[in-house]
Amino acid sequence: MAEHSQIWAGVELGGTKAIAVVWREGRIVDRTVVPTGDPQQTIGAIGNWLAAHPLRPAFAGLGIASFGPIRLDPEADDFGHILATPKPGWSGAPVYTALAERVACPVALDTDVNAAALAEYRWGAGQGYSSLVYLTIGTGVGGGIVVDGHPVHGALHPEIGHLRLRRAEGDVFAGICPFHGNCIEGLIAGPALAARFGGDIHAAGADDPRRNFLASDLAELFATLVMMVSPQRIMVGGGVGLGVPGMLDAAIAKVPAILNGYLPQLDVEALRTMIAPPRLGADAGPLGAIALAQSVSHG
Ligand code: ADP
Ligand code: ZN
Repeated sequence: MAEHSQIWAGVELGGTKAIAVVWREGRIVDRTVVPTGDPQQTIGAIGNWLAAHPLRPAFAGLGIASFGPIRLDPEADDFGHILATPKPGWSGAPVYTALAERVACPVALDTDVNAAALAEYRWGAGQGYSSLVYLTIGTGVGGGIVVDGHPVHGALHPEIGHLRLRRAEGDVFAGICPFHGNCIEGLIAGPALAARFGGDIHAAGADDPRRNFLASDLAELFATLVMMVSPQRIMVGGGVGLGVPGMLDAAIAKVPAILNGYLPQLDVEALRTMIAPPRLGADAGPLGAIALAQSVSHG
């Protein structure tokens, strides 16, 4: 395939670090990582690396996988700009243009989680599925959706992390999202767990009722995604998603009761198959950027 013999560049702009990669013949052949500081510095360092790369004249395309919220509508005046964010200095940052002017090739843009979903669809645990969700539970909660090989975005892009879901009876934790308090990110992301468990979740006993509340919140998220997206795969990554033993199983066990006989084929066994770990690990983001780059020229 043409895309295998071509050279592509990708940038994953994350909350804690930014990664740029060059991809050739099916694999990443070069990369740089810079900590995410202020936008000029971070985008400048990534842009300098790309501009000076010896393969730059041969780039067939650049893909940018960015944290959000970011404007993805190419018709909008602020296309490619970060929207209002609590991240200091980043509101209004012109991510797309600041990187696009450093390369002489087509540039594609999407969210980090949509890109990761696309990478898992192309090369990982999402292969062969026409509808899939990539969830990350880490510093925040984010979700990307790919349907028939296309990342879902329209007016903006999905904001799965800020869904507000039904709470377990007796759970009085107020949540910590600065916008919504007890949206799902405010309840189950890393900083929320630190607040909820007063530091370390691993210090809480196996029968601590707060574990049950956490499982209940995550189960609500799974049930909501099932109802809304009808995914064949939900891949769960991120430091919390991958790092809290038993959390996914405890949540999955609660989903059938939430569905309450609706979609009876989705029993615990079927849900365990549907809710799978991602396969590309830490490279899902950068590979997602490459997948975006390839979609510019290959539809
Ligand atoms: P990011 O979301 O910035 O890409 P991670 O996915 O690694 O990074 O998530 C980092 C967040 O997850 C931090 O808030 C950290 O405290 C939390 N975290 C990571 N691993 C665990 C774990 N095993 N148990 C609880 N919280 C964790
Ligand atoms: Zn929120």
